[in-house]
Amino acid sequence: MMNTHIEDTYRAKGLRQQLVETLLSKGITDKTVLAAINEVPRHVFLDSSFVEFAYQDKAFPIGSGQTISQPSTVAFQTQLLGVEKGMKVLEIGTGSGYQACVLAAIGAKVFSIERQRNLFFKTKEILEQLPFRVKVFLGDGFEGLPTYAPFDRIIITAGAPSIPEKLIAQMKDNAVMVIPMDNANGEGQTMLKITKMADGSLKKEEFGGFKFVPMLKEIGND
Ligand code: SAH
Repeated sequence: MMNTHIEDTYRAKGLRQQLVETLLSKGITDKTVLAAINEVPRHVFLDSSFVEFAYQDKAFPIGSGQTISQPSTVAFQTQLLGVEKGMKVLEIGTGSGYQACVLAAIGAKVFSIERQRNLFFKTKEILEQLPFRVKVFLGDGFEGLPTYAPFDRIIITAGAPSIPEKLIAQMKDNAVMVIPMDNANGEGQTMLKITKMADGSLKKEEFGGFKFVPMLKEIGND
């Protein structure tokens, strides 16, 4: 189905600048990240032209029981990831495609995996109409993309039950993974930054509590 809200508008641009101010006040200080948020039109990833809603700092349903992450969460994960121009970045959980475009706006080569068939095709169609270079794949994020590995950065945008071993194997030396890890009490996730050291060991740092949809194994058709 054609998305009729693909155009950017002055109204949306203005709201986006306000969103950037909100993110600044919430502790996002990385200028590269803020510039990317300012550049990517978030309203085109939503079903209808909810321009006002699109630029509030809120998560939003995108169908197939999934959500587009809250802008402050997207910005926080992106800042933590420390992306630089030209880096190869793997995203697990394409969802709406918004996070992937924010990474692409920074100049990363983005590879993103989504397991929900319907969402994958819907998002692929939207991405084809945007100027951001993102390669999307229908598959299981736990497997990663061995063909395109190794990666400089890996970002997981669903709650992970464990650190996916196959993804660790697809990281370069000194590569960084940002992953929301399920808390033992079953309530939400703790944001982890994992650095793969040159000797293969993993340095793990914790960055507070979040709430994501779960990372699931089998391909979903809903
Ligand atoms: N990054 C997205 C937010 C996605 S929400 C955005 O910017 O909009 C998490 C997504 O992860 C959902 O779309 C869900 O279907 C997907 N997902 C869950 N388990 C997965 C898996 N094993 N592999 C790939 N994607 C998965």
